[in-house]
Amino acid sequence: MGTAKYCRKKKLPLFGIIQGATFKNLRAECSQRIVDLKFDGYGIGGLMIGEPSSLTNEMVYEVNQIIPNKKVRYLMGCGYPEDIVEAVGLGVDLFDCVLPTRNGRTGMAFTSEGKIVIKGSTFVIDNAPLDKKCRCYTCRHFSRAYLRHLFNAGEPLAGRLVSYHNIHFYINLMAQLRAHIQKGTYKTFAERIKKNYNFRD
Ligand SMILES: [Zn+2]
Repeated sequence: MGTAKYCRKKKLPLFGIIQGATFKNLRAECSQRIVDLKFDGYGIGGLMIGEPSSLTNEMVYEVNQIIPNKKVRYLMGCGYPEDIVEAVGLGVDLFDCVLPTRNGRTGMAFTSEGKIVIKGSTFVIDNAPLDKKCRCYTCRHFSRAYLRHLFNAGEPLAGRLVSYHNIHFYINLMAQLRAHIQKGTYKTFAERIKKNYNFRD
């Protein structure tokens, strides 16, 4: 069964994907043609693959002018916290990325104060949780020192616990973004996140 047929039968939303690399004219043309096909939502593809963030933002802005206001926008592969808050400011609703688990498996945690690489010797006697503001299972039960020990002992549990925390961080980040938009304080919140996460791998 074709995807469109399957989605209609199951009442699943069907998304069209907008391409056009970093050419404004191609993005505009592709957006219009895909919008004309009347999808439930629109994916913005072909970005977040190493191009400068100013160019990403320019393309996202361009296509968002054409996608109808009431339709869901999904920026494919966008996963750094600072990129997510920026894209939300440009009107994007949905994201997907491997970062929370891929980086979690190698000991990198996203926290309310920025990133932490838990395998470092800085944490050898640190009894604080990964993130003092986090209420996830990992942060409620395990210290940074213990997580560091698990990594250095080669225990697979280490990567699972940090991944768990990272996913919780991302779910919470999106919930905070929604709340700040409703309160009218999105800009201040976004600036704080961007300041804490002024990095790329
Ligand atoms: Zn946590």
